[in-house]
Amino acid sequence: MADDPKTEPTNVKAPHGARVMEIDWADGHKAILPHEILRGYCPCAHCQGHGGTIKFVPGGDLDLRDIQQVGNYALQFTWGDRHDSGLYTYRYLRSLCQCDECKPSFDPMRAP
Ligand SMILES: [Zn+2]
Ligand SMILES: [Zn+2]
Repeated sequence: MADDPKTEPTNVKAPHGARVMEIDWADGHKAILPHEILRGYCPCAHCQGHGGTIKFVPGGDLDLRDIQQVGNYALQFTWGDRHDSGLYTYRYLRSLCQCDECKPSFDPMRAP
């Protein structure tokens, strides 16, 4: 699946101070990812526990300090409270999109 244009980012924009991240995907889709959504759906075991479906966990620090690319399949974020254990695969990020097109059918996939 490495060559699926739907899960291949061509550009990641996270302007300092902004509360939203944008990802351009290779299929032309432009994803809107508010920090609140990214943090709330942090896929790490600490945030999600081990109970099946993914859930929104409110209350985390929303200051996105750092973005690291992990291999060629995921991004890792460091938040203002130093939480950085979430590995957001491109497939997962794509499922979190909040653009006008995706938001109506928003249903985050189970974190891989
Ligand atoms: Zn987490
Ligand atoms: Zn979208």
